[in-house]
Amino acid sequence: MSCLFCKIIDGSIPSTAVYQDDQCYAFADIHPRAPVHVLVTPREHIASLGDAAEGHKKLLGHLLWAAAEVARKKELGKGYRVVVNNGAYGGQTVDHIHLHVLGGRPMSWPPG
Ligand code: 5GP
Ligand code: ZN
Repeated sequence: MSCLFCKIIDGSIPSTAVYQDDQCYAFADIHPRAPVHVLVTPREHIASLGDAAEGHKKLLGHLLWAAAEVARKKELGKGYRVVVNNGAYGGQTVDHIHLHVLGGRPMSWPPG
């Protein structure tokens, strides 16, 4: 499997784990855009949100819950943002679905 995040999940590329369970792995972004920037990925390879199938609905809900768990672990009680970039216009650069959890500073709106 040539997918970067599959290699991070299987441990062949090192990362800093923040949260993990049987369905997902969350790790620190290598190029943080905020004081806290964590990526939540499913262990199963799914290329993008748009590629998720109806059978993935429970897993997608689990990823959102895991994002909130990451925010609790990182003590982001003042607030945080969860982002999924999808496809080229959405700014997705790694084709393995991931939720960005960003916090530790106020977020502006709208995003660029
Ligand atoms: P996307 O642009 O696809 O929404 O997000 C991909 C994210 O993966 C980016 O924020 C980028 O900094 C992060 N990233 C890319 N390569 C690596 C890596 O090797 N390790 C880690 N921890 N993060 C990475
Ligand atoms: Zn993958």
